[in-house]
Order: sequence, then C-alpha cells, then structure tokens
Amino acid sequence: MLTPNATYTMNGVKIREYIIPDGYRWKDAAKARAAGFNPGSLFKKNQKLSGGTGKVQAVTIHNTGDLPKVYDDGEQYTRATYPNENMGSARVHFYVDDTGAWQNLKAGTGLTPADPIGSAEVGWHAADGSVSDGGNMTTVALEIIENESTEHDRIARDNGARIAAWLLWKNGLPISKLVTHSFWGAKKHGKTNSDVDVQCTTPAPGEHWCPMYIFGSQNQSKALQNWKTFKQQVKTYLDKLNGTPDPAPDPTPGETIYRVQTGAYKIKANAEALAEKIKAKGFATYITIVDGLYKVQVGAYRVKKYAEAERDKLKAAGFNAFVTTKSGTAAPAAEEIAVGDKVQCNAGVKKYSNGVTMPEWVRTAILYVRQIESGGKIFLVSTQKTGNQYTGRVNATDVHKV
Ligand SMILES: [Zn+2]
Repeated sequence: MLTPNATYTMNGVKIREYIIPDGYRWKDAAKARAAGFNPGSLFKKNQKLSGGTGKVQAVTIHNTGDLPKVYDDGEQYTRATYPNENMGSARVHFYVDDTGAWQNLKAGTGLTPADPIGSAEVGWHAADGSVSDGGNMTTVALEIIENESTEHDRIARDNGARIAAWLLWKNGLPISKLVTHSFWGAKKHGKTNSDVDVQCTTPAPGEHWCPMYIFGSQNQSKALQNWKTFKQQVKTYLDKLNGTPDPAPDPTPGETIYRVQTGAYKIKANAEALAEKIKAKGFATYITIVDGLYKVQVGAYRVKKYAEAERDKLKAAGFNAFVTTKSGTAAPAAEEIAVGDKVQCNAGVKKYSNGVTMPEWVRTAILYVRQIESGGKIFLVSTQKTGNQYTGRVNATDVHKV
C-alpha cells in the first residue's frame, strides 16, 4: 500500500496526495513502448494547463470500474499508475472512491504544499491529445470508481460530486463547465451542440462512452437524464459553496468565511427583535453567539462579493450591515444594561442563574437591575429600584430591557 505524501479534506472528502513527481521518466522500456512512448520519456505531460498558465477551464468526469476484492480502489489505481507503470498513458488528477480520493496530478487546489494555487497540470484522459482547447490540455479530470454495491457507488459518486463542485467553485467556474469524457470525444469528431448536456452525452465512433455508470445506459436520452441528475448533485454543492446562506460554514484551511452581520447584542431578545424586522423584509437571518454576544447575521459566504452584495441589499432596506470574517472583527457597540434599568425575563426563561426554578410571577414581572456582577453576566434584580424587596440573580442573557 502507498503512503500518501499528504492527506487533506476537500469539501468533506478525504484526499490522499500522491502526485507524480515533476520530471519523472518512464523506467520500464517495454511498458513505455506499449503505452506509445519512447523509453525514458516523461511519465506525465509535465506542463501546466491552458498553455502553461495553469488555468482550469472545466472539470471532466470519468467512470472506471471497481476492482474486485480491493478496499481502497483509488490507492490501487494510483499505485498501478505510479510507480508501477501499468496504466498505459492514462493520467488523471483524482481517482475517487467511497473511501475518498487519491490525487495523482497537480490541480491547483492550494490545499496541500505540493499543489499550490495556479499549478494545475495537464493529464491524459480525454483521448484528444494535445489539442490546445481540448479536454487534456484545459481540464482537471476525476475518475469516479463505480460498479460495486449500490451503497459503494452512491458514496463514491457523492464524493465525486463534492470534489467537482469544489474545483468549479475554486476556479470561479459555472456548473456548465462540468463536462464528460464523451463531451471531448464528440468534439474530436466535429460534433458540437450548444446544449452542453447534449454535448456531454453525444456518442462518437471509437470513443469511450464515459462516464458509463453515471450515464447508466447506452441510450442517449436516458444517459442525458442520468447525467442531469448527477449534474444537479454537483450544482447543489456548488451553490452552497458559492454562497447560499449558511449559518456557520466551516472554513477549510486557508479559507475565509465572510459573515454579513447587522447588530450584536448582549441581550438575546433584542437580537431576536432585530432578526424579526430583517426577516420581515425578506432576508434569511441567523443568530450566532460569539464572545457572549448575540449577533444577527444574514448569512455567511465563502465568496466576498456575495457577502458584500447581501450587505448592500440590507443597507438599501434601511439596516446597518457590514461584513466580518470568520475570525471576526470588532463588534458594533453592544447594548448595555445598567443599574436602574427595567428588565423582563425572555420568553422561556424559567431558572435563576444558579439553576433554581423561578416562581411563576418572576418570569413575567418587571424587574429593576440593582447590581451587575461578574463581567456584566449576572444581574441582581428586584421588583423595586431601592429597598429590601424581593431580589434574585439572573443571567444577563436571559433578560431584556423594557
Ligand atoms: Zn473516461
């Protein structure tokens, strides 16, 4: 079994990096010849995509068969490629299985030191040679391993969808740049269709019908339907990455999350009141607790411009809004509660700060703040401003000003 050079996570998928070294040359003369190369020639194209710029212009989807009695098929395919030299001329960026994926070529992810941003390199998978606008020269390839059990294939395909979506997102590409091996086969034969999905499922003589398990049929219209289903799966992930509001996406290493924030309050009910007003204007709102403050967010995005656009819409609707990053910037002035203020318990609060259940009447009574304790967190409340009337301690976050 190979030991990966690095292991990282891409959109929830475990990737094991085992990139063919730059400048590596065929070692086995007979295998090189059988694959159509002169002995000692370069083992991979050793060139960046798109005329040396490293620009990824599309993601190409392939399918290959599951290997019987092999658990980590990606590892087996990777090992067969390099160092075993048994995969002929085929070079792909990722072999994707139910266990995750193995990366064989640079894809410019920036997620591992061996694969810096802008480094995406040429593979050999689309059977269209070195055509400058072809699949080999301009795209990153995913080989999704299927044809085992239903559950295996479902997970492998989902992993493939996650990786494809992430690569599209990372390269600023729309879903229309998700294509198939057959897309390039048809192009090679001079067949072009303005409908990219039709192009993706156009057979051509002598070309692979690929990704065959995703197509699920030799019948073109059935394959088209099944391809669209897979594409929708990718699109759902892509939309999420591109900025469908998400209360708290987890940044992967090197990522920044842009939060669209409005008010921040010490008092939950005040945050809820603002959230309601914003909701009434048609925005989705979330309340997050950061550093003891209730922050009213309208969404969190991985793309700065989406966050800024949402902020501008909020401003136009009359709300104070700004963009913060995941690490957080200075919060706006939080609402303070001072000694002498009148407060009331928030709906649903039933206990004092020491955990003891309050009498029913305290839950709805107007109370005066008599003292603020431990960093503003605990309030001593009373039914009167002064004197020796009823008193009790509550959490600051459990009351609101009235
Ligand atoms: Zn293929």
